[in-house]
Amino acid sequence: MKLCDLHTHTTASDGSDTPEELVRLAGRAGLSALSITDHDTTDGLARGAEAAEKEGVELVPGVELSVAFPRGNMHLLGYYIDAGSKPLQKVLKKVQAARSERNPRILERLDRLGMPVTMAELEEMAQGGQIGRPHIARIMAEKGYVKSVSQAFDKFLKKGGPAYAPKSILGPEDAIKTVRAARGIPVLAHPFSLMTRDKGELEEIVLSLKHHGLMGMECWYSEHDEHFTATCLDICRRNQLVATGGSDYHGKAKPYIRLGIGKGNLRIPHSCVEALKAAKNAL
Ligand code: AMP
Ligand code: ZN
Ligand code: FE
Ligand code: FE
Repeated sequence: MKLCDLHTHTTASDGSDTPEELVRLAGRAGLSALSITDHDTTDGLARGAEAAEKEGVELVPGVELSVAFPRGNMHLLGYYIDAGSKPLQKVLKKVQAARSERNPRILERLDRLGMPVTMAELEEMAQGGQIGRPHIARIMAEKGYVKSVSQAFDKFLKKGGPAYAPKSILGPEDAIKTVRAARGIPVLAHPFSLMTRDKGELEEIVLSLKHHGLMGMECWYSEHDEHFTATCLDICRRNQLVATGGSDYHGKAKPYIRLGIGKGNLRIPHSCVEALKAAKNAL
């Protein structure tokens, strides 16, 4: 069976591999297709595409948008987006500005907690990419404030944590509209992070998003168990949504996640790519 990975991050956002390194890794892993889905930026896509052509890997252009949701975390993936889309780039610029505005507020909180991190350290860690909490977490681990990136999140950086600062982000409707304006396929990322009580509640949310133009849901994911994946697949089947999958590989920012296989047993069928392509062609 041909396997793919449709959710990964590079140095354009908070991943630690460059687009070229990631594409090479996908080639070595024997993946049929790879999507680069950096947070709130398309900056890694051109370099990724060039490397993919040399490597003989199929690259699916993607992006991952942060979405405002009252509970848990909502992220929206956009596949086969036209990265040159003016409305898309306009929205990305706004979201990127909100990120820049948030970073000093997180650093201020860390300072008050006795764990100083400077903006210069943060900029060096991010190497010009969009800065995210994983960069801050990695510095905290390197400085010995915490044992690991995960501990930095659990104790300090998670939503509601003592060093957390919110950033203003898009609502679900605007996020979906932005992806559609760029002729992309909007897909709900890692639905486990919505922290819904049960299948009924998840399906209700998905249906209201579909009403606004959602076209797919990420069913195979590193943090989903077999049962939750089956639940997601069933919701996709019942509501004519494209089922996709990805590891959310970040390199050193999530050392326990490996490309393609996640925590070890992830297997994402290449049929996801065919289904996305069919949806794109039907737009
Ligand atoms: P931000 O873009 O600053 O909101 O950070 C979001 C990133 O942090 C995403 O890549 C998440 O996967 C990552 N993240 C969120 N919670 C955790 C956690 N507990 N451990 C490691 N990474 C996390
Ligand atoms: Zn990330
Ligand atoms: Fe995400
Ligand atoms: Fe992600």
